[in-house]
Amino acid sequence: MPQIRRLPETLINRIAAGEVVERPASALKELVENSIDAGARQIAVSIIDGGLSRIEVTDDGCGMTPEEMELALERHATSKLPDEAIEQVATLGFRGEALPSIASVARLSLESRPREAEEGWRRVVDHGAVIEEGPAALPPGTRVRMENLFGKIPARRKFLRTARSEYAACLDVVRRLAMARPDIGFTFIHGDRRILQLQRGQEVADRVAQIVARELADNGVELDIDRGEMRLTGVAGLPTYNRGVADHQYLFVNGRPVKDRLLTGAVRGAYADMLARDRHAVLALFLELPPGDVDVNVHPAKTEVRFRDSSGVRGFIVSGLRQALSTGDRRSAQAPDASAMGRWQVEPSEPAPALRSIFEGRDWSSPQTRVASPSSEWRGAESEVMALPQGRAEKAEEIAAEASEYPLGIARGQVASTYIVAEAADGLVIVDQHAAHERIVLERLRAAGAGDKVAASQALLMPDVVEMDEADCDRLEDQIERFAGLGLVIERFGPNAMLVRALPGSLKRADPQSLLQDLADDLAKHGDSLLLGEKIEHVLATMACHGSVRAGRTLNVAEMNALLREMEATPRSGQCNHGRPTWVKLSMDDVEKLFGRH
Ligand code: ADP
Ligand code: MG
Repeated sequence: MPQIRRLPETLINRIAAGEVVERPASALKELVENSIDAGARQIAVSIIDGGLSRIEVTDDGCGMTPEEMELALERHATSKLPDEAIEQVATLGFRGEALPSIASVARLSLESRPREAEEGWRRVVDHGAVIEEGPAALPPGTRVRMENLFGKIPARRKFLRTARSEYAACLDVVRRLAMARPDIGFTFIHGDRRILQLQRGQEVADRVAQIVARELADNGVELDIDRGEMRLTGVAGLPTYNRGVADHQYLFVNGRPVKDRLLTGAVRGAYADMLARDRHAVLALFLELPPGDVDVNVHPAKTEVRFRDSSGVRGFIVSGLRQALSTGDRRSAQAPDASAMGRWQVEPSEPAPALRSIFEGRDWSSPQTRVASPSSEWRGAESEVMALPQGRAEKAEEIAAEASEYPLGIARGQVASTYIVAEAADGLVIVDQHAAHERIVLERLRAAGAGDKVAASQALLMPDVVEMDEADCDRLEDQIERFAGLGLVIERFGPNAMLVRALPGSLKRADPQSLLQDLADDLAKHGDSLLLGEKIEHVLATMACHGSVRAGRTLNVAEMNALLREMEATPRSGQCNHGRPTWVKLSMDDVEKLFGRH
C-alpha cells in the first residue's frame, strides 16, 4: 500500500494552475482583473507572440508593499473577501489563486509600489521558486510580467496553440474586460502594433462601438429595461446586422464578462425567428441583479455563473431583447451591401444596346407598366392569416399626396415581379415582397398564437388519429398546452396515438401525421431544452415562408400599398425571418448625388 502524504505547496499550486492558467489568455485575464480590482484608472497590456513569449500588464492602482507581495504569491491569500461573505463579492477576483498558480507554471515578475511609498519592490518567481528580490524603480501601481509559460512543463507546453490563435484569445479577453469598464482607460499592444487605445471615461455605447465596430452604432438599438430587481442595459445589433460567428456577443453579469450557456441560449432565442440558424447577432448586454441571486463561484476561471432563478433570467432577456428590437423595426440595416450600392454609380457612356432599343421603339404615350388584376391564387382559399393584406380600393394617384406620411412611402411600381419600388418623402424605397410578406405572416401567426386560441385554430370535421411511438406521444403530451396556444389542439389517444382536434388556421391543409412527427422529432432532438419555444417558432417561420406571397408574383398598386402599410404596422418587419433586410432605402440626397444635382 503506497503511503498517503501531503503534497508540497508547489505541486498544489501547479494542480490549481491546471484550471486557472490554461493558456496565455487565461493568465492575462487574471492579471487584468487584478488591475481592475486594484482601482486602476489606466491599464496597459502588452504581449509578444500572442502571449506565448511574454505578457505584461501595468496599472496605476493601489499597489502592494513588499510584505503584501509575498503574501499575494501564496495560495488562497486575497485582500478581496473582507467579511468572508462570498455571496456578496463585488470584485472580479476573490479566490486568491491566480498569482501563485501563474508563478508555479511560468516565470512571474511582480513589481509594485503603493502610492505613498518612496520606491517599489520586485519579486521574481520561476516555476514556484523565488529567484530574485529587491528594490525596483517604477511609478505608483503594479507591473506584472509573465514569461516562459509552461517552460518547465513540456507536457502542457505542447498543448499551446499557434501565436496567432493565442493572440486572438488575448484580444478577446481585453475587449471583454474593457467593455465592462468604460471608466478605465486601456491600451493593448501586440509586438510592435498598437491594437487598442481606449480613453477612460467613455460612454458604454461609445466603448462598445469602438471595440466591436463603428457600424453597430447605426445598426443597433440601445436598451435599458428592468424587471423587479433585474436590469438589462447595452446595445443589441439589428437582426440584419449579423455575423457568421458568435464572437461578437459580449455578455456581462454584474460587471463580470461571462460565457454562459443560459445567456447565449436566451440571446439565440430572442433572435430565433429573425436570423438564419447559421447567423449570429452582434451585441453587448449587461445584466445586473442582486449578488445573492447569482453564484459566480462555479468555476476557477469565473466565466460561468449560476442563477437562482434561471428561467426568470432567461425570460427577462428574451422578452427584453425582443421588445427592444421591435422598437427598431422601422429600421432595416441601412448599410446595404456596398458593392451593390456602388453599382448605382456606374454610368454607361452611351445606352447599352438593350436600353437603346427600348428608348427607340417605345410609345411613350401608353404606360408600359403592367398592372395585373388582383391575383387570386394566393388569396382565395388561404386563411386570413396567410392572406396578403387586402388592397384598399384607392387609386395610386389619390394617395400620392400622402407620401410623406408613410415611412415606407407610396408604391410606384413593381420590378421583376419581386421588388416593390416606393417613393417616400425622404427617399426611394425598394421592398423585397416575399421577404416582407413572410415576416408579416409570421408576426400574425404569432399574434394569433398569443391571443385568442380558438380563432387561430381550425377544428377538424373529424378528429384525426395519428399513430406514433410511445416516446414521441409522451413528448407531445408534455407540450399540449403550448401547442394549444399556437392553435394545434391534440390529445393523448392511448399509449401509441395522438388525437388531433384542430390545426393552426394557417396550417389547416397540413398533413397532421407529418406535422406531429416533425414536432416530436424536434422535441426528441432538443429534449426539454430551453430553446423549445424557439423551435416551435421556427416551425411557424417555415409555415410563414410557405404561406407568403412568392417572389415573381405580379401585384397591383393597391396590393403593394397595402403590403407597405402592413409592414409599417408590423413589429420587427425590417428583416425577414432569416435576418436579411426586407427593404432598403436610397435617400433623396443620394439620388440627387447620382445625378450630380448636389
Ligand atoms: P485574487 O485576485 O483572487 O485575490 P490573486 O492571486 O489574483 O487573487 O491576487 C492575490 C492578491 O494580490 C489580491 O487579492 C491583491 O491583494 C493582490 N494583487 C494582485 N494583483 C494586484 C495589482 N495589480 N495591484 C494591487 N494588488 C494586487
Ligand atoms: Mg485575481
